[in-house]
Amino acid sequence: MTVMADIDAGPPIFRHTGRAHIRLGKGQKAVRDALIGKLDQGIYRLEEVKCLCGMTEDVVISETDRYGLPLKTVICTYCGLLRTNPRLDAGSLDGFYANEYRDLYMGADYGDMDSYFLDMAARGREALDLIRKTAPWVDLKKADVLEVGCSAGGVLFPFLEAGARVKGFDHDRRYLDYGNKREPALNLLPGGVETLEKEDCKYDIILINHVMEHLADPAGAASAARKRLKPGGLCYVSVPGLKNPAYYNSPVKSFLGSLHIGHLWHFSRLTLRRLLKDFDMLYIDDEVRAVCALSRAGRVEKDFPSEYASNMEFIRDYENAFAWKLRRARNVIRNIRHLIKLV
Ligand SMILES: [Zn+2]
Repeated sequence: MTVMADIDAGPPIFRHTGRAHIRLGKGQKAVRDALIGKLDQGIYRLEEVKCLCGMTEDVVISETDRYGLPLKTVICTYCGLLRTNPRLDAGSLDGFYANEYRDLYMGADYGDMDSYFLDMAARGREALDLIRKTAPWVDLKKADVLEVGCSAGGVLFPFLEAGARVKGFDHDRRYLDYGNKREPALNLLPGGVETLEKEDCKYDIILINHVMEHLADPAGAASAARKRLKPGGLCYVSVPGLKNPAYYNSPVKSFLGSLHIGHLWHFSRLTLRRLLKDFDMLYIDDEVRAVCALSRAGRVEKDFPSEYASNMEFIRDYENAFAWKLRRARNVIRNIRHLIKLV
């Protein structure tokens, strides 16, 4: 059964023009063009995927991503989750992450690793503060903390400073090497969600920071994390919130800036809550950051209202306001030029 919310879906909000929405460096343009070539030649293939709620009825929000790639983003009319559909299939996703992802995302080099590490450490401090606030009973000095998708270990660093034993998994050797050299006690190892599934160890805290939106099977990752938590253990999950313009990686803060070939899902508060339905939710906000625990009997929520209307309206209203501001700015510039000519 599909619940159609009572609003007019209208045409896609962002049409495909082939132009990038963000400024691309030479290296990024070359990677983007190589990607288009691989898609055209069938080296990378696309596949249709259902929404995480199991439904297939959706409305197209965009026909392009921020790089100008011809990829559709749709919104599920049942639960309101946005996803890339069709998206790169499993083999193509592996190829993309091995060959193009970092260079497309960061430019030809990795930029300044020191400042990247410090930015991530600031994000880790926020996570640590939130955990301290929502679960003050956790003794960090005795805690075993794991991060899945740890990159250079910056997020883990404040946990290490707080006295925890830490460990991180990531597939990117360049990040792992940097982090391990900077602080060997970060204990960063090659691996990902599949490594978590095979692990014997259990943890007091598992961090999954800006990873879920990249995964083909985020529900599988949530379930693997649950199995690896000690009794009373916590999971911290954060994703770029759909309604948080801070994550619209765009010079003009358009929602299009958050659409990116690697982002397979675009979560909002309730759609992330639905993903983490088997946990006991201690805290969740619109950024979106969640602190959840292994559920105790009777505390698991099963009914989640649809966010279709709310998400659709948010994006339309936001982009309409943005278009109006852009028109106003253009008018001001036109008037100033006219005045200068008169003088
Ligand atoms: Zn859905």
